[in-house]
Amino acid sequence: MADFGVATPSVKVAGGKPATATGKSLSVVALRKTYGDVVAVDEASMEIAAGEFVTFLGSSGSGKTTTLMMIAGFCEPDSGTITVGDRDVTRLAPQKRGLGFVFQQYLLFPHMTVQENVAFPLTLRGVGKDEIRRRVGETLEIAGLSRFGGRKPRELSGGQQQRVALCRALVYRPPVILMDEPLGALDKKLRDQLQVEIKTIQQELGLTVIYVTHDQEEALVMSDRIAVMRNGLIEQFDTPRELFERPKTPFVADFLGAANFLPGRIEQHTDEHTLVRLDASGGLLKARRHQLPSGTSVKVAVQPGRLRACAIDDGFCTGTVETATYVGTLVRAGVRIDGKEAPLLRLEVPAGRGPVAGERVGITADPEDVNLFADEQAG
Ligand code: ADP
Ligand code: MG
Repeated sequence: MADFGVATPSVKVAGGKPATATGKSLSVVALRKTYGDVVAVDEASMEIAAGEFVTFLGSSGSGKTTTLMMIAGFCEPDSGTITVGDRDVTRLAPQKRGLGFVFQQYLLFPHMTVQENVAFPLTLRGVGKDEIRRRVGETLEIAGLSRFGGRKPRELSGGQQQRVALCRALVYRPPVILMDEPLGALDKKLRDQLQVEIKTIQQELGLTVIYVTHDQEEALVMSDRIAVMRNGLIEQFDTPRELFERPKTPFVADFLGAANFLPGRIEQHTDEHTLVRLDASGGLLKARRHQLPSGTSVKVAVQPGRLRACAIDDGFCTGTVETATYVGTLVRAGVRIDGKEAPLLRLEVPAGRGPVAGERVGITADPEDVNLFADEQAG
């Protein structure tokens, strides 16, 4: 399997990034699409900078594809506007928007060679023969496919076919490339490899990419920013770190961080911290300073990897380790909390330092890692 990008930085674009890689590349304002009673996309708005890798992340049916198809021009919005650079493209036909696409199905022409497939968008645009040969050659080299130019798609592996599809989108250097679950049909190992390769090409060429996936890890690995979508709404549009560390809603905390949730009530604020009385244990938990007033009913959210087992007297609660499963570099533990309704907390701790089943432990967390949500925000 040819690999590219990482080990072959042989192709350089003059000046590093194309001239378009500054400022605003694409913006979407209040984009909406309904199908009968179903609101597929509800007033989606975002600005994407040139050179940015943005991912739409959400479970099936959350409106990712519909949003992408409206940007592409294959699906007409009920309302809202789409701007590419300074051009309003909302009512333009897809081929007039100058965007590139890569879909889950490769959609390569089976009767054409790899070279002919990649050349197709240029042929369509009436580019001269020599120029086509040069640009196709250059693009295939970027993707590590130079040796395969004469083959037909059926003579290639799935991963190679997807690289050809990527080349076909890259070859005319569109200002924005749209990708809808392009790795969805590939096995995990190949998917991991292609994630890195696509990301490397994107960075080397300074491409603006809008990528769709339902896979959290894929989104975290590849993206500069992620739009978390849910029921046609953009729940939060932020960097992977912000989404992970500072989720704005319980849904995001759960979807990206698989957070533990514990009900409680804000007892008081200090200069640096907010103290929460937990319903289950009656213990006091220290969270990073929060704006909500004292007395507010809250949900405490902490990711499994940010909880630690500690001495019985040192934690915000105590419990009994019910399960401790070794999963390679870490141990996943389930700890049944002492007290009302006895919720089960999920912990992830480095292997070798993990608690063992049956053990009595205290549970603690760095206040920085504790997120609070007002109860009405729940759900
Ligand atoms: P995703 O790509 O996140 O899985 P979609 O954008 O495909 O979600 O779909 C969003 C919602 O719109 C879903 O409820 C889906 O059933 C509905 N939908 C999408 N396309 C159509 C269509 N052509 N006709 C009717 N409903 C559709
Ligand atoms: Mg989809």
